[in-house]
Amino acid sequence: MELGLTGRVAIVAGASKGLGRSIAIGLAREGANVAICARSQDSLTSTAKFIQETYSVAALPIVADLRNHADIDRVVDGTVNRFNRIDILLNNAGGPAPKTFEESTGEDWEKAIGLNFFSGVRLIQRVLPHMKSRSWGRIVNILSSGVKQPIDGLVQSNAARAAMAGAAKTLAREVAVHGILVNNICPGRIQTERVNEVDAATARRKGVTVEEVRRESCREIPMGRYGQPEEFANAVVFLASECASYITGSTLQIDGGFIRSLW
Ligand code: NAD
Repeated sequence: MELGLTGRVAIVAGASKGLGRSIAIGLAREGANVAICARSQDSLTSTAKFIQETYSVAALPIVADLRNHADIDRVVDGTVNRFNRIDILLNNAGGPAPKTFEESTGEDWEKAIGLNFFSGVRLIQRVLPHMKSRSWGRIVNILSSGVKQPIDGLVQSNAARAAMAGAAKTLAREVAVHGILVNNICPGRIQTERVNEVDAATARRKGVTVEEVRRESCREIPMGRYGQPEEFANAVVFLASECASYITGSTLQIDGGFIRSLW
């Protein structure tokens, strides 16, 4: 299948490691140029170098803290200055602290909503005019299976992702007329540092080992294992492509069958 991504320009947020990094690599493999951002200069630079050397596309690393709107503006402006267009936005960042409702402080909530809701809103606000000017765009928000089946001990994530899902659904209806498609994609358990952190927190809370937490999680997943970042990225790359031309306003889980609900 020809995905039609050659020459497209994507901003991939939170791309120094984990899912964001795999998505940036997946888009580059299909011929897209990528602007990648995260807070750490070293891992961003090495990811950009790897992408350029492996796939012969341009990869622009921009150090940015997504909680800071001036940094988000720098990411968007830097991408436009370099490539003169933005076709695709991969809205992604780190996840909030794994805590229960009663453990979560006001500061925790502000951080979570700042990173997992407002940063996405700001990025979308800034890229939309560029997509509208070309009557083509793809926005993919990385959320969590918690949108469909809230996860114990991750209350801030459950709430912030639900807010983004609501905003995205509304936006999808507003911008479809401009050829801009907006979708959400929800990881279940994909093997990254974030999942290691969440499993360690669950182990502490339950007073068991991380291995026991993993065994229990895998029992809940019909495929019996955690997913690999590349398996997740393949679905995101498809949604960002020309081939996803009649898909908008959807929320797709990539979870090995974990979520039990019908919708
Ligand atoms: P990760 O922690 O491995 O990677 C997060 C990326 O975001 C990194 O590149 C990190 O540097 C960057 N980042 C974090 N805070 C940032 C900030 N303030 N500014 C700029 N960049 C920042 O996480 P992941 O596993 O790749 O997950 C990505 C998203 O998907 C997270 O929001 C996570 O909570 C969510 N999620 C992941 C899973 C999973 O199975 N991996 C499951 C559910 C939800």
